[in-house]
Amino acid sequence: MNLKTKGSSEENKENLKFNKKRIKNRRCPVCNKILPDPPNPFDPFCSNRCKMIDLSKWLNEEYRIHDNNR
Ligand SMILES: [Zn+2]
Repeated sequence: MNLKTKGSSEENKENLKFNKKRIKNRRCPVCNKILPDPPNPFDPFCSNRCKMIDLSKWLNEEYRIHDNNR
């Protein structure tokens, strides 16, 4: 009797597929490569190298801010 309910659940399935696809195409903010499949221990970066690059960037910026305050 409830044909409408069946239709909406089919729609939800499509939305789930779409979301999964989007997550798969995430990119590394440092080198812009597509991230490897999860589980990725360096998430949201593609590798330990990029993680370190990003970390050093942050540290350098903090140093600069402290310098300007003097
Ligand atoms: Zn990277």
